[in-house]
Amino acid sequence: MSDLRSINPSNGDIVGVYPQLSEQELNQLIAEVNSEFDLWRRIPIKDRCKYFKYLAEAIQIRKDEFARLMALEMGKPLFQGIGELDKCAWVCDYYADNGEKFLADQTIKTDASDSYVSFQPLGVILAVMPWNFPFWQVFRFAAPSMIAGNVAVLKHASNVQGCADAIEGLFIEVGIPNNTFRNLTIDSSKVDYVIENPFVKAVSLTGSTSAGKSVAQKAGSVLKKTVLELGGSDPYVVLKDADLDIAVDSCVSGRLLNSGQSCIAAKRFIVDINIQSEFEKKIINKMNKQKVGDPFLDKSTVGPMVNKAAKDELSTQVLKSIDQGAKLIYESDIPKSKTGCYHPIMVLSNVKPGMPAFDEELFGPVACIITAQDESEAISLANQTVYGLGAAVFTSDIEKGKEIANIELEAGAGFVNDFVRSDPRLPFGGVKESGYGNELSSYGILEFVNIKTVYVR
Ligand code: NAP
Repeated sequence: MSDLRSINPSNGDIVGVYPQLSEQELNQLIAEVNSEFDLWRRIPIKDRCKYFKYLAEAIQIRKDEFARLMALEMGKPLFQGIGELDKCAWVCDYYADNGEKFLADQTIKTDASDSYVSFQPLGVILAVMPWNFPFWQVFRFAAPSMIAGNVAVLKHASNVQGCADAIEGLFIEVGIPNNTFRNLTIDSSKVDYVIENPFVKAVSLTGSTSAGKSVAQKAGSVLKKTVLELGGSDPYVVLKDADLDIAVDSCVSGRLLNSGQSCIAAKRFIVDINIQSEFEKKIINKMNKQKVGDPFLDKSTVGPMVNKAAKDELSTQVLKSIDQGAKLIYESDIPKSKTGCYHPIMVLSNVKPGMPAFDEELFGPVACIITAQDESEAISLANQTVYGLGAAVFTSDIEKGKEIANIELEAGAGFVNDFVRSDPRLPFGGVKESGYGNELSSYGILEFVNIKTVYVR
């Protein structure tokens, strides 16, 4: 059983080595978390909420330190790390302020003397999480699930165990009862074993579609609920009446967030032929103002990719697409480094179905421009994907934009004249191979509860 390693993607240095738990240690730890469930679920919800207020404060106090840790383990530029941590504090505050209201009993008038619906926690929930937003993904899961009374075990991505330990440490620091939230230092090969553990009642996975399918299959075989937040290939439809400056700003922000390594990145720009050449000029101009570089430097807006394998995979997807007819119309500089996993920002034009740049998820700073002859072809191209996470449309006709975002685009979120992003107040989730279930908002807190009927004669 090999140790887990964090490797600095800017220079290849080993940042941390983490021995994995044995099966015996795993069983022991999960049993300890389970034994905490009865206590945690009986703490009044007001008090569980208070702990998440403390967590929000603790995150704010230590956000510089945590942003540096993310930069070190997965290459996120520091200012983006700070933004991520602000959002973690926000989601803790949001559920601390609203959890009680979301989970209040709901009386239903029937022929009983009293009948109502209550929301009871399930027990130990396993969270399998990715490295790309190492703090946000965990708090987005933990705040609603634990305020609802569940306890949690985290299987974080192998390369961000420093972040996983820091998060576990935060729970202890704010005084949440020991073993209510624990980190499992294991790689993905142990996930099936954990799912089989009878104390584990459900699984939340954020990650690739292939990991989602594997977890869903295992969890299905032992009849445990899953929530799956998976990959995406978000289309940004730019119609001929769009304000191009707004569209270009949103496309660039949406594509380059987290150095292009985001599930809801703008992965395909589908542009009306009448405005395509002007759109391309503006995109190149805007991309040219970005800086690929060391995530610790203020001027860097795009950091390295997470590791060499990810960088090589992206290069292969780009080269294959160019072989099939895509045109490389922009390529940025990258730092001169033999060991850093830097990939240039690129813009590909003439991208078509059948090319990896159209059909697959490009998880890095490469933008793809796809030409549409008209609105109806643009919508059809947008939906020509196995994914359905986010989508955006740019038009000066707001009513038409709403109609397209709401009715036409096959996605969990449709944005009009803005880039797709998550917000604790709004539900977040995908359709098709982007997964199922919701996180965030009043809907997310209901994923891991027993929606229970109480009936009194
Ligand atoms: P990943 O390889 O699927 O890993 C995600 C997590 O799943 C890690 O903890 C990983 O563990 C584990 N895992 C991998 N294969 C597994 C398997 N067969 N069984 C059980 N667990 C498994 O994804 P990633 O490369 O870290 O993240 C990028 C992907 O996540 C992209 O596709 C992105 O779009 C998606 N994502 C989706 C959302 C969303 O909200 N929809 C958000 C962020 C990212 P190890 O690290 O030990 O392999």
